[in-house]
Amino acid sequence: MKINQQKCVGCGNCVPVCPMGAIYVDQSTTRATINDDACVECGACFRGMSTENLNPTMVRTVRKVAKFLRFRFEPEPDVCPTSAFEMHDLEMPRLIRQIFSDPVVEHKSTGIKGRGTEEVKTNDVNPRVGAGEVGYTIEFGRPGVGVRFFEIQNMTRELARNGITFEKKNPITHLMTNTSTGDLREDILQEKILSAIVEIKTEITRVEEVLRIVHDVNDKIDTVTAVGISTRCDENGEDKILDPLLEELGFVHVRAKTNMGLGRVTNQIELKKIEEINI
Ligand code: SF4
Ligand code: SF4
Repeated sequence: MKINQQKCVGCGNCVPVCPMGAIYVDQSTTRATINDDACVECGACFRGMSTENLNPTMVRTVRKVAKFLRFRFEPEPDVCPTSAFEMHDLEMPRLIRQIFSDPVVEHKSTGIKGRGTEEVKTNDVNPRVGAGEVGYTIEFGRPGVGVRFFEIQNMTRELARNGITFEKKNPITHLMTNTSTGDLREDILQEKILSAIVEIKTEITRVEEVLRIVHDVNDKIDTVTAVGISTRCDENGEDKILDPLLEELGFVHVRAKTNMGLGRVTNQIELKKIEEINI
């Protein structure tokens, strides 16, 4: 993302819009600037702000006169008066920031936008987690912190070292050069993204071990980690195994989502695969 310095009038409206705190008004130039290293190419500034297309010279003059007269003018807080934001075509490895952070960009590996995974939200039509199994989503970077791929790799390497395998329909798995070591592509390791999800599953007997691994790695990386954990309910919709186990381990948890078995496949890539199987 770029801010056209010829157009920007330094009003500062865009500063609070950025979830990564990457935009600041440079006091030496009195223009808004983006810290490229902190920007995750999410597009919130470009799409989230209204634009007015006003003439920058005219706006600067009005602002100077208002300042001279000590006339306080409160513009609409979500408007870039001169449409100064410009979105450019990106190339790898920087492109990976946009793929993971911009909610309107689709992951080619899974056909899904955003973080690129349906997680276990579609478990009723795409049974990732079977009876006696536990599925985990390990989410990095939310809210408002972001994550670099080398931090994600710390987690995937440690999980792999303990013999844990990764969900195939997940964009992080697609970025691995070696799924048995959890190594990610070398060229993206320093890239920063808004958030990402690593997905794994194990037998229910390994829950304590997995949560301990995640906890230990989380202490060593500079981001936020959140764990979602799921299993299959019994015929009465109850979970008499995982719930008590989590309580025994001292976790306070709430049931966030329940799949009722009423879902249908809407992911075009999955639909194509099913059609091919049925031919
Ligand atoms: S809102 Fe637009 S004009 Fe105002 S500081 Fe940001 S980029 Fe510049
Ligand atoms: S693209 Fe996103 S991260 Fe980058 S400056 Fe805009 S709002 Fe901030």
